[in-house]
Amino acid sequence: MNKNLRKAVIAGNWKMNKTPAEAKELIEGIKPLVKDADCDVVVCVPYVDLSVALEATKGTNIGVGAENCHWEKSGAFTGEISADMLTSMGVQYVIIGHSERRTYFGETDVTVNKRVRAALDSGLNVILCVGEYLEQREQGITAELVSMQTKIALGGVSKEELKKIIIAYEPVWAIGTGKTATAEQANEVCAVIRETVKDLYDAAAAEGLTIQYGGSMNAKNAKELLDQPDVDGGLIGGASLKPADFAEIVKAASR
Ligand code: PEP
Repeated sequence: MNKNLRKAVIAGNWKMNKTPAEAKELIEGIKPLVKDADCDVVVCVPYVDLSVALEATKGTNIGVGAENCHWEKSGAFTGEISADMLTSMGVQYVIIGHSERRTYFGETDVTVNKRVRAALDSGLNVILCVGEYLEQREQGITAELVSMQTKIALGGVSKEELKKIIIAYEPVWAIGTGKTATAEQANEVCAVIRETVKDLYDAAAAEGLTIQYGGSMNAKNAKELLDQPDVDGGLIGGASLKPADFAEIVKAASR
């Protein structure tokens, strides 16, 4: 498989960090450092920072994403944001199924699938997160579990729509813990995801799919992870809040 056929994408996940004023400052810091990137660069920011992020990234090579969206277009869902609300602002990406959503906010594979569908219907690019807990890795069920998460999340998604999806493999035990998967572990599971997509669709769909690794990726370990044949990019939490570190990861992904 030729990895160069696929888009390399580095996306920051800011989580619940940065006020609008701080968001503007952070983007201004990132902008000059990634302007010559030879990969796609995205910042996924809290809802309240979206306007500022869209304004600050106008005319740059940085895309803007949200960190979730609801599956209904509108209605009595206090505290939720619809995919149409995001696209109406000009938002291009959305993270769906992050493990923090699954762990702390009761997201299930079924609601993840509903959110994926709604995001695609609105024209958003989706960063779909899958990954195992440490107990599941120790039980030896990582491949099975990640494959199942992928299958459920992609239910009802056509081969054409798959082109708008990036899958992020994020072992939960590696997120925000400073414990990174080894490059081999990351590649092994990314390859399982690609195989699963091949079974669901076909070889061309699998070959064209961008798969990111996420979990304590930083300026130091990025290159080794991103050099793996099935790792096409990264979803970056902590290091995406530091312009120089984020830019170093972007550099490592540039082909
Ligand atoms: C994430 O939030 O998706 C993530 C990978 O976080 P961190 O890089 O901080 O582990």
